[in-house]
Amino acid sequence: MEREPESREPRQTVRAGWVLCPVCGRGKLLKLRPDTAVRNLPVKCKRCGQETVVNIKAPEPASQGTSA
Ligand SMILES: [Zn+2]
Repeated sequence: MEREPESREPRQTVRAGWVLCPVCGRGKLLKLRPDTAVRNLPVKCKRCGQETVVNIKAPEPASQGTSA
């Protein structure tokens, strides 16, 4: 049996600090900062009206060792 690669969720397009709508590709859904993390956040596109669940993985914290 062959299984397709998991692609349940639409890929988020992030450009210039903005999450773009994967449906219309033009609507700006959410503004991001370099350290922004989003998990399962439904955002409605103002352009096409489609709701998209946004997932932005948090950047890994810089490990500088434990200095207690
Ligand atoms: Zn859209």
